[in-house]
Amino acid sequence: MTGNNDPAQIPARPTTPRPAKASMPVVTMIGGGQLARMTHQAAVALGQTLRVLSGTSDEPAAQVSPDVVLGSHTDLDALRRAAVGSNALTFDHEHVPTEHLEVLVAEGVNVQPPPQALIFAQDKLLMRRKLAELGAPVPAYAEVTWAEDVVRFGSEHGWPLVIKATRGGYDGRGVWITDDQDEAEAIVTEQLNKGVPLIVEEMVSMRRELSAMVARSPFGQGATWPVVETVQRNGQCAVVIAPAPELSSAVAEEAEQLALRIASELGVVGSMAVELFETTDGTLVVNELAMRPHNSGHWTMDGARTSQFEQHLRAVLDYPLGDTSPIAPVTVMANVLGAPEAPEMTMDERVHHLFARMPDAKIHLYGKGERKDRKIGHVNIVGVAGSIDDPNYVAAVRERAERAAHWLSYAVWTDGWDVHGE
Ligand code: ADP
Repeated sequence: MTGNNDPAQIPARPTTPRPAKASMPVVTMIGGGQLARMTHQAAVALGQTLRVLSGTSDEPAAQVSPDVVLGSHTDLDALRRAAVGSNALTFDHEHVPTEHLEVLVAEGVNVQPPPQALIFAQDKLLMRRKLAELGAPVPAYAEVTWAEDVVRFGSEHGWPLVIKATRGGYDGRGVWITDDQDEAEAIVTEQLNKGVPLIVEEMVSMRRELSAMVARSPFGQGATWPVVETVQRNGQCAVVIAPAPELSSAVAEEAEQLALRIASELGVVGSMAVELFETTDGTLVVNELAMRPHNSGHWTMDGARTSQFEQHLRAVLDYPLGDTSPIAPVTVMANVLGAPEAPEMTMDERVHHLFARMPDAKIHLYGKGERKDRKIGHVNIVGVAGSIDDPNYVAAVRERAERAAHWLSYAVWTDGWDVHGE
């Protein structure tokens, strides 16, 4: 219609423009890794920008956020600079010293998760003690102050056993599994001499590893995604199947309730992964907690109505939480790990080929250089029609996710497929 006098069609009188961003919250994330990069991606959709404290300007999140503070997460002044004017300060890793966080809180910074909760994701000994106190299932464990502690633990609980650095480990670094007493003593002596505090744990006889992801807001709202199966290779997460196949609804419910209870008892705010072992007896044991978005939740970017990254922002800002339901019978995430030698074919070309073969593959690359076993991206395959109870269907989706990720890592198709049909 033209030339009408309908007031609804008449442009409003121009007013002084107010920058839209001025009224929108600023969230600071400590750490410039891929988790911050993907949280920024979620922030963009919510009209926010994520400010990141990054060690260098070429870290994954520093490449994409327009609001980067360069500095170290162990430097209180850098933390203060990153916190100025932000509505919430949160983390892409667990390594910020607690004493710095307490200073920030005392200065009025809204640190989420708060340091008194985060400590249980930072220190494996404190985490074990706290979980045991809450009655959550944990493996037998002991503090290690000298080599004799491990020998005694081995004679009580059997060998092999698991020695762990209480702080700073990731992707299996800082975890030693041994069935040899001399080796165990040597590890303990070497690490304690380096000033690395240790614990020892029984080696859990497990069927597989699971992860229960939840989110909690300061208001106390909680939300759970379906429990997933995580497949580890060389101590590192390789594949995630969401939801975990062949998991009874009773055990799934138990895992979700356990994770929600831990979040609430510890006062966690944000997304949290509770890494679990499903034992060969079918019971659950908690391995560890991650109070941030987590590799086991990457599938939610394409496979759930609300991703773990958006949910983390909603939680730390005390917005109502989002719908966590999955959008498909199964979603499989496979990590893209750096090959021992980067392939000659450029990543750009690899992406072209993958898109040509699998138009439904959802690629997430982190802007990282290729180094052996380094997590440089992941691929999600969202299953179409099928049932999680059909092993052939689940295996087919998983195979495609792993094939896609392997292609991006190595520029080799695991089934020998050749685009030119040679
Ligand atoms: P990180 O903090 O490096 O991720 P974890 O404590 O999660 O270290 O251990 C890494 C991996 O080692 C786990 O995913 C699991 O495969 C194995 N592991 C750790 N603790 C035990 C245990 N008590 N029994 C059996 N395997 C374990």
